[in-house]
Amino acid sequence: MMNNIVVLGAGVSGLTTAYLLSQDPSNKITVLAKHMPGDYDIEYASPWAGANYMPVGKEGSAHHKWELNTWPALKEIAEKYPEAGIHFRGTLIYNRKKDQETDTGKWFSELTQPNPWYKDVVPDFKSIPSDQLAPGVDNGQEFTSVCINTAVYLPWLVGQCLKNGAVFKRAVLKHIADAANAHHTGERADVVINCTGLSSKTLGGVVDDKMYPARGQIVVVRNDPGPMISTSGTDDGEDEALYIMTRAAGGGTILGGSYQKHNWSGIPDMNLANRIMKRCIDICPSLVKEGQGIEGLDIIRHGVGLRPLREGGTRIEKDKVDGVAIVHNYGHGGFGYQASFGCAYSAVSLVKEILQNKSRAKL
Ligand code: FAD
Repeated sequence: MMNNIVVLGAGVSGLTTAYLLSQDPSNKITVLAKHMPGDYDIEYASPWAGANYMPVGKEGSAHHKWELNTWPALKEIAEKYPEAGIHFRGTLIYNRKKDQETDTGKWFSELTQPNPWYKDVVPDFKSIPSDQLAPGVDNGQEFTSVCINTAVYLPWLVGQCLKNGAVFKRAVLKHIADAANAHHTGERADVVINCTGLSSKTLGGVVDDKMYPARGQIVVVRNDPGPMISTSGTDDGEDEALYIMTRAAGGGTILGGSYQKHNWSGIPDMNLANRIMKRCIDICPSLVKEGQGIEGLDIIRHGVGLRPLREGGTRIEKDKVDGVAIVHNYGHGGFGYQASFGCAYSAVSLVKEILQNKSRAKL
């Protein structure tokens, strides 16, 4: 029996879910979205991400499980499919206890603690000896992570789905139930997967008040400093961040950032951009030539994305709206890539439950 499935949303959440579902030839999949890879828009978080794997889920939580389950998939893609635009990269993490109560410090509290769960997941995890830490840094660690060139990786996911027979269509929906009538066969979909990110706040039939943005501003430069670096916070503001990551396959280096909750502005703030560039050079002088300041940075673009955060955490659950079976997979905040496969595995198992019930009903 064939299954008609509509995935609403073509960010990393929708594309990863569609990719997994498309591996089963009995699934006929339509991916429906307002924005597709190649677009840059404030309503589309995925292209703006770094993106790397820096786990932040609290030990024992569902979030922990999603990130844990994602590492093997990203590692395999990095090893086997260079055309996907993911590479391994050395990573340095610095923690200052004084950042503990700030928005940025809380976001990174699992990442920066000295004995995190992910030490047994990522390769080469080591604590940095305290005599090698800069003044003011209380602990630090290094490991090998991945960095994803989103401009290559998102189209790669589209390509995998197309190869497996999925169909992509542009559409702007007012109501989630309308997706059931948009399957490319013209037949009604058996299940709709909601991967609309921050737009789940306003999408009819969902209207999730728990969604809110955490604004992330970045500068993309041509300079390549070497390892990825991230800190627990900065002295420039409680919602400002400091991270550096060089993307695979000539994707440039992302200098970040910020974590500005409830701020919807899509316009880069040039004062913030200057602070970002200055503190990245302070922590990593090899970003520029000796003696240079921010004039030594070769800027490709300034950018802003909105991380789709949800009070109470990511929503992965079954729902029924106007008689349409829905599986939600949205609200991935600043961890949509590093939890992408783990979340998609959970969403796919809910889809399978719905499809099994459908088969039983037809027997
Ligand atoms: P989105 O990418 O926003 O996609 C939503 C999709 O739904 C789009 O296709 C949109 O067009 C579609 N849609 C919405 N409403 C409708 C509608 N009504 N009708 C039709 N289509 C609709 N994560 C990491 O794991 N690692 C990182 O290093 C990292 N760095 C980040 C840095 C920045 C600056 C930012 C902003 C984010 C970062 N993230 C990172 C987080 C990550 O980018 C997000 O968690 C992820 O992109 C969310 O993906 P999504 O597919 O859920 O949503």
